[in-house]
Amino acid sequence: MKELVVISGKGGTGKTSIVASFAGLAKNAVFADCDVDAADLHLVLEPKVKHESDFSGGKRASIVTEQCVGCGKCKDLCRFDAVSSNGSLSDSEAETFTVDPISCEGCKVCVEFCPVGAIDFKDSVNGRWFISDTRFGPMVHAELGIAEGNSGKLVTLIRREAKRIAAEENRDLIIADGSPGIGCPVIASITGADLVLIITEPTLSGKHDLERVAELTASFGIPTLVCINKSDLNPQMTSQIAEEADNRGIRLAGKIRYDKAFTKAQIMKATVIEYTGGWVSEEIKALWRNVIYELG
Ligand code: SF4
Ligand code: SF4
Repeated sequence: MKELVVISGKGGTGKTSIVASFAGLAKNAVFADCDVDAADLHLVLEPKVKHESDFSGGKRASIVTEQCVGCGKCKDLCRFDAVSSNGSLSDSEAETFTVDPISCEGCKVCVEFCPVGAIDFKDSVNGRWFISDTRFGPMVHAELGIAEGNSGKLVTLIRREAKRIAAEENRDLIIADGSPGIGCPVIASITGADLVLIITEPTLSGKHDLERVAELTASFGIPTLVCINKSDLNPQMTSQIAEEADNRGIRLAGKIRYDKAFTKAQIMKATVIEYTGGWVSEEIKALWRNVIYELG
């Protein structure tokens, strides 16, 4: 079983449209949407959910008001300013303390030092994850709550489930839509993958993004390919990016010219290849052939 992860330095490069097109071209694959902070592969693959579960990224503190004696120790000790008080409103009303669940990092310091054991410390539900059927094969995906952290842990869970399904169903390929950037979620997306495909575009920021992401994949020793999307919008920058990739020993697996079909297909909930049989589809198919060749 092989695992391909498609990533980009930032959003908006056409990464997900390319992953969706690959899904339609693959014969026997499982799909994993690891772009959990901005998941949109489901918009095209239209998964039918078969199984869903809560995702807990860790524990959070919450104060049991009835037990709290108002000493303020938790507020003084919290390094993340997650504890606030209403201040003493009047002589007859006691000061009350509360934990902001978004700011709480689950360090447990307040729990350890509360003199009366008034702080609960429970698993927090940060999102949900799903196993679904799509018209091209099984898919694992998730929804992360707004401003929720720990997306790296959720990415790891999604990849593990995709691998389990692939093993159970004798599927020989996992195609993952990776997280953008170079932070924890993208590291969780690519660790141990067989091949990374970087999607970039011919702009100065696209070139910088390629450099950053290429350094990351090199540091993990993962074979890497690059594809320049919208390559005809700036031929000079396309050449510079191709040269940069070559200098880094990264093979240019494809160039895709700009086509409105990317946006139109997404609106129609179709892959680019389903939407049009034009040259853009041929360029994506050529990219796919290079990816398959590299996977061996
Ligand atoms: S668990 Fe840590 S971060 Fe959360 S409220 Fe307590 S001290 Fe602050
Ligand atoms: S440390 Fe415990 S008793 Fe003191 S204010 Fe916080 S929750 Fe209340």
